[in-house]
Amino acid sequence: MAMRMSSLFLRTLREDPVDAEVPSHRLLVRAGYIRRVSPGIYTWLPLGLKVLRRVESIVREEMDAIGAQELLFPALLPKEPFEATGRWAEYGDNIFRLKDRKDGDYLLGPTHEELFTLAVKEMYSSYKDLPVSLYQIQTKYRDEQRPRAGILRGREFVMKDSYSFDLDEAGLDKSYQLHRDAYIRIFDRLGFHYVIVEAMAGAMGGSRSEEFLATAENGEDTYVRCPNCGYAANVEAVKVPVPEPISYADAPAAHVEDTPDTPTIETLVALLNARHPREDGRAWTAGDTLKNVVVMVVHPDGTREPLAIGLPGDREVDEKRLGAQIDPAELAAFDEAEFAKNRALVKGYIGPGALGLEGTAKIRYLLDPRVGEGTSWVTGANEPGRHVIGLVAGRDFAADGTIEAAEVRPGDACPSCGTGLQAARGIEMGHIFQLGRKYAEALDLKVLDELGRLRTVVMGSYGVGVSRAVACIAEGNHDELGLCWPRNISPADVHIVATGKDDAVFTYAEELTRSLDAAGVTVLFDDRRQASPGVKFKDAELIGIPTIVVVGRGLADGTIEVRDRQSGGRRDVPAGDGLAEILAEVRRPSTSSSTSTAASPVPPSAG
Ligand code: ATP
Ligand code: MG
Repeated sequence: MAMRMSSLFLRTLREDPVDAEVPSHRLLVRAGYIRRVSPGIYTWLPLGLKVLRRVESIVREEMDAIGAQELLFPALLPKEPFEATGRWAEYGDNIFRLKDRKDGDYLLGPTHEELFTLAVKEMYSSYKDLPVSLYQIQTKYRDEQRPRAGILRGREFVMKDSYSFDLDEAGLDKSYQLHRDAYIRIFDRLGFHYVIVEAMAGAMGGSRSEEFLATAENGEDTYVRCPNCGYAANVEAVKVPVPEPISYADAPAAHVEDTPDTPTIETLVALLNARHPREDGRAWTAGDTLKNVVVMVVHPDGTREPLAIGLPGDREVDEKRLGAQIDPAELAAFDEAEFAKNRALVKGYIGPGALGLEGTAKIRYLLDPRVGEGTSWVTGANEPGRHVIGLVAGRDFAADGTIEAAEVRPGDACPSCGTGLQAARGIEMGHIFQLGRKYAEALDLKVLDELGRLRTVVMGSYGVGVSRAVACIAEGNHDELGLCWPRNISPADVHIVATGKDDAVFTYAEELTRSLDAAGVTVLFDDRRQASPGVKFKDAELIGIPTIVVVGRGLADGTIEVRDRQSGGRRDVPAGDGLAEILAEVRRPSTSSSTSTAASPVPPSAG
């Protein structure tokens, strides 16, 4: 059924929402697709819901095509399965918790590994039942710390999550590959430019993990790619190449020097060059200093543990990289009060002597991989105004291990070929992930194999941000006037605008709407008698349906106008050919500006 502007539940807005940071948020609200209820919580208005449903159906088609089966779990979940896997505690403040009338604990599902695992456990018992892939398209809840950019990062959002269950790793590899191929088809059809990058496998010890990032300058994720070998990774997942050990047989002994008033790296480097020039003649740089940063790690059970990170002084700790390493624990500041409690730590002059294995304070101490065996450093002497010069890693100090927490910079060596990396930003649209046996073990999901032995099932988990995709498509398909939907996502194929007061115009437009409708073309008909042509054109541009047909004054001379929303192109068409011309237009294969491959569903290959 055609939608009519006279009765459509829609109010376009002239003003941008005050909290809008990005174009998709601004335009989806102004054009009447979504409406805010509360931070990160949005209503889908009729036009928005149509777009959401189209994205859902693309995702559904491709999941069905790899043989995954759709089901639907509740969003309201009891706590017990999440306690069994430890996530009731791990999620901390990030989930919505509630109680029923009997004081039982519940949560609103942030993701559903537990439920899928239990369902398979309850229903399947033999290797003959595997492999199986199950999915749902469902509303998820996360009490995000920073809900952002409308539906891009919501506290309620729609996700497709699927899970594969296999007897062994070879099976998991196959299921993973099937999902990966399906995701490529999904994101090609959604029509935004994306990259596939290596992602953090997380604390749960799975192996392969990749993210599909929509490239976007305002994206929250930073990724690097190698222009030479094609390596691409989320910065969280970048592994710094470990240098070969350097022999320190001839390295001079370390010596402590007075370095008054040098609490910062800059002041220290300046003083070193003035008073303690290097023997090899080159100047000291920040990269010669070993900076020791102390943070507080808050574990899911609430315990707080100080952690010291040693890294070259010319690099900062990247909070996202560090956060990913300590997940599910969270970071807190190591503030003045903490320094007061840890007298061995002299702010600005912390050295390895006060840390780690050798130290008295026994603070866990982890090093950036660049601080390899045999490297020599200037670092704090654990006394105000004093530093030690020529402290050699492996000879003079040791640590409890290494950590990938230092910032990654453009130009850093590619871990796979050594070429300088490039950095860019993106929005995480999908995540595929070899979970391994963590959930199956925690919830005791086992099946009998061919020999009658009980085997723990191997799982994969795969997510697509369905509602986020709507924002992302809008992000990549708009101009200063409004949205410009790709045809396969648009809430309608054709926006017919009837202008003026002439009854003949409205009769023709009405007739055209009916014929298109009968031909299976979806129409939004602006049949408002009171609104001015200017208002109607502005609305059509804002709403962004790909083909706009103007029926107005020209009709008297036998023409109507067909506009292409994306290119702005306009052409007059004889009114008598209107139907045929529009049908040809909407059925023409897409020539969208997207750089992804064209929207053609690929038939599934047998699994
Ligand atoms: P992010 O790093 O962006 O917080 P995530 O890694 O926590 O995402 P997953 O648990 O991997 O997300 O969820 C699968 C997909 O769900 C993500 O790839 C993303 O597209 C989508 N998604 C996650 N959180 C949100 C949210 N708050 N709002 C909208 N979509 C989301
Ligand atoms: Mg993720």
